Amino acid sequence: MTAFSWFYSFLKKHNARMLFGLVLVTFISVLAIVKPIVSGSIVDDVITGGQYDLLPKLIALLVVITVIRGLCRYWSQVIFETCSQDVLFSMRDTVYRKLLQEDFNFYNKKRTGDLLSRQTGDMDAIRHFIAFVIYQVYENVFLFFFALIMIFTVSWQLALCMCIVLPFAAAVTISQTKNGRPRFQKIREQFSSLNTFVQENVSGNRVVKAFSKEDYEIEKFNKENDAYRDAELAAAEIWTKYVPQFEFLSNMLTVILMLIGSIMVIKGNMTLGNYVTVNGYLWMLTNPLRQIGWRINDIQRFTTSVEKIYATYSEEPNVKRPKSGIKRKQLSGDVTFRNVSYSADDEDIIRNVSFEVKSGQTVGILGSTGSGKSTIMNLLCRFYDVTDGEVLVDGVNVKDLDLYNLRQNIGMAMQDVFLFSDTVEGNIAYSRPDCPFEDVKKAAVMADADSFIQEMPDGYDTIVGERGVGLSGGQKQRISLARALLKEPSILILDDTTSAVDMETESYIQKQLNAIDHKCTIFIVAYRISSIKDADLILVLNEGQIVEQGTHEELLANNGYYATVFRHQYGEYEQYIKGGEEHGKK
Ligand code: ATP
Ligand code: MG
Repeated sequence: MTAFSWFYSFLKKHNARMLFGLVLVTFISVLAIVKPIVSGSIVDDVITGGQYDLLPKLIALLVVITVIRGLCRYWSQVIFETCSQDVLFSMRDTVYRKLLQEDFNFYNKKRTGDLLSRQTGDMDAIRHFIAFVIYQVYENVFLFFFALIMIFTVSWQLALCMCIVLPFAAAVTISQTKNGRPRFQKIREQFSSLNTFVQENVSGNRVVKAFSKEDYEIEKFNKENDAYRDAELAAAEIWTKYVPQFEFLSNMLTVILMLIGSIMVIKGNMTLGNYVTVNGYLWMLTNPLRQIGWRINDIQRFTTSVEKIYATYSEEPNVKRPKSGIKRKQLSGDVTFRNVSYSADDEDIIRNVSFEVKSGQTVGILGSTGSGKSTIMNLLCRFYDVTDGEVLVDGVNVKDLDLYNLRQNIGMAMQDVFLFSDTVEGNIAYSRPDCPFEDVKKAAVMADADSFIQEMPDGYDTIVGERGVGLSGGQKQRISLARALLKEPSILILDDTTSAVDMETESYIQKQLNAIDHKCTIFIVAYRISSIKDADLILVLNEGQIVEQGTHEELLANNGYYATVFRHQYGEYEQYIKGGEEHGKK
């Protein structure tokens, strides 16, 4: 499928309405020829011929035609505008659905500003094309050839002379189309780039301020802004060059009519009335010629936008949904990694990882930064697909499970916490928006979030996220944990979820996790030994490989990396326990 057949698949649903709109435009154009005929008749029949009683009838005819043309124009405009909005609506919807299907790899490589441009500026170029350009081009081409035919019926010699401009018009059209195309592509690229820059700077404005880099960013913005202006000016250069050429050609038509027409009238080969009639048709020839430059502009904006949108749309996700994936309402949560490897961009990220967890067990994952902990969790959720080996849930390869079903059974508190611009309650209840408030509160209590939420200005109705109140790192983590818990998942993944909370809070959360009243396999990714030491299985990762695995006691006995980390942190932990006991005694 090409970009244009894709575009047409949206437009064709409105074929009947669009055709009717074009029929109305044809009607309007045909009625336009009445005016020159009436003018000719006034000269020949009324003024020269003396049929004065014809005048009121001719004027009445003109008035009626003007009213009918006005009504038809209004009707056709409504049709084209509504068609364009309907096409845009379904196109935006389709593109957005596809964006939601894309995998992590897609979003890792795409700039947010580019994706925003596809859904805004590029879509608008398409709206403009359907609402305005299609009928304008049709009307102008129709008027031009219709007027030429009418002139032929009046005087074929004059019409032939006027045809001289046609090859020139065609040559200029081809030249403008060829030269304009790369410049319009450049505009779309610069527009995306400017969008990305603004979007990143607005999102990252805290970093800009923290490093006092406002001047530096303004300078960078000015460069982007300059580049966009230059791209627009380069495209404007095209029409400033070609529009006068079309203007010249249309003026040539006037000159030809005046010169040849006058000679013919003087020689008696044409009546004065016919001359007036042909003069009346003249605007129907000159106007379309003048418009060509502008319409080529519009068409090129449209074609580049369709191509850009389609290029984004047609990217297929690497993670594919199985056609008839196995669906299980409630998975048990048995997880097996069998010789799993994952590489991206020719780099091995996970190498030959194997482990097995039974439903209801807890797994701790420890390892230095960049060792592949989050990647293993991402493979379990099928955010990426393994390059080698297999990931099994309840004994079934995750690739054979229905993708949504799998993810519905997993509750994940991600390492990078993202909260929506919504109330605290809305954020926690994201997976079950209709659940009773008691459930939201219960999840918040388990995540030790209830007390600070209650202290917020509007409690659970406080807006958080981008346009909401500021939250501390630990508070965000706890809301994210409550969100994952409310799902009552079969598999719960906590990726560094308690790194920003104090140890007392962490210990409280751990007790709550142990008391989860349904069977749930828990993965805890952490740096602190205290977060994972009670786990049924601890995996120690290094450079994408499991270097040690076992229980806390087994790993201590092993005296490897885990034992070293434990000794580094142990003092701190012991002190904490002692401190707690002394506090308790008091
Ligand atoms: P941290 O403790 O800092 O969160 P981590 O153990 O969770 O680290 P991962 O996020 O799993 O580490 O990343 C492991 C390595 O793989 C990193 O070097 C990262 O840059 C790389 N990586 C992860 N995903 C991809 C990907 N899709 N494409 C390319 N590289 C990736
Ligand atoms: Mg990580």
